[in-house]
Amino acid sequence: MISFSSFYKQIADSNLQHWLETLPAILGEWQRQHKHGNLPKWEKVLNKLNFPAPEHIDLTDSVTIGTPEQLAAGDIQKLHNLLKMFAPWRKGPFYIHGIHIDTEWRSDWKWDRVSPHLSPLKNRTVLDVGCGSGYHMWRMLGGGAKRVVGIDPSPLFLCQFEAVKRLEGTDKPIHLLPLGIEELPPLDAFDTVFSMGVLYHRRSPIDHLLQLRDQLRNDGELVLETLVVDGDENTVLVPTDRYGKMNNVWFLPSVAALTLWLEKCDFTDVRCVNLDVTSLAEQRSTEWMPNESLVDYLANDDITRTVEGYPAPKRATIIARKLASNAESV
Ligand code: SAH
Repeated sequence: MISFSSFYKQIADSNLQHWLETLPAILGEWQRQHKHGNLPKWEKVLNKLNFPAPEHIDLTDSVTIGTPEQLAAGDIQKLHNLLKMFAPWRKGPFYIHGIHIDTEWRSDWKWDRVSPHLSPLKNRTVLDVGCGSGYHMWRMLGGGAKRVVGIDPSPLFLCQFEAVKRLEGTDKPIHLLPLGIEELPPLDAFDTVFSMGVLYHRRSPIDHLLQLRDQLRNDGELVLETLVVDGDENTVLVPTDRYGKMNNVWFLPSVAALTLWLEKCDFTDVRCVNLDVTSLAEQRSTEWMPNESLVDYLANDDITRTVEGYPAPKRATIIARKLASNAESV
């Protein structure tokens, strides 16, 4: 069974220790709920990932664990087959003993757009909300963060993360907890909080921003990446039904509207550091994610539109700082 005890131990004498008053009960309940379904099967696969500790690790320019030279050809094939059991792999890429997990998303490209604008991560305690398989968490650790905590309710993403962590082999300060943001108490503790690719899935985007603020220490940094549309501070697209075939897309604001929302939620120094139309090369079907992808979500005759006729996905990265005062203006 996936255990969170190493996390509990590591935070016992940190500024996250108050979390221990509620977290073990919540995760205990999560484990009871997931006794059935796919999790037991995936946990069996995790238990088979017994390979020698990697002789080489890179988390600075990629997520690379081990080298092909370290394992016999038969072991590499075995590892390849085990990793395939966690398909579909959406967020990556990972390079594990020479196996290239070519994920649906080039998450490294997003990191290249975001990371140059961050306050240096060295020695910071970081939260990644909606972290997926944890790709960016590894890069945050590679950037020098003291502790990286990711939350994501998807059990498959948890297992993909655990697979990489077990192959990495050491008990580094990096943990993924299978929680939604709404299950976190206001921790007021993190130096940097990331929310990338999550806001448009939230039915109450302002509440999401307030929940993110509640996790930051005063003056802490929020990194928000989400889908946006062109327009002024009162422009927000609410899809009638689906957006890019997704049925869980709620609010696509303009950058100006999002800036206003953030300021209303007591963030300051709000700035958009990157705007990017997602390319067909960044999100596509691969051997590790063979289902439909972006090209199938866009109109056949016009890739500037989704199949529903909305503007094609355009993403903004916005950085802001939590106002030091706790003034409640919302
Ligand atoms: N941050 C990654 C993944 C974005 S996909 C990236 O930028 O590439 C959005 C993720 O949000 C999914 O993995 C989904 O499981 C997660 N998610 C959905 N509801 C959530 C919630 N309530 N709290 C936190 N994460 C959530």
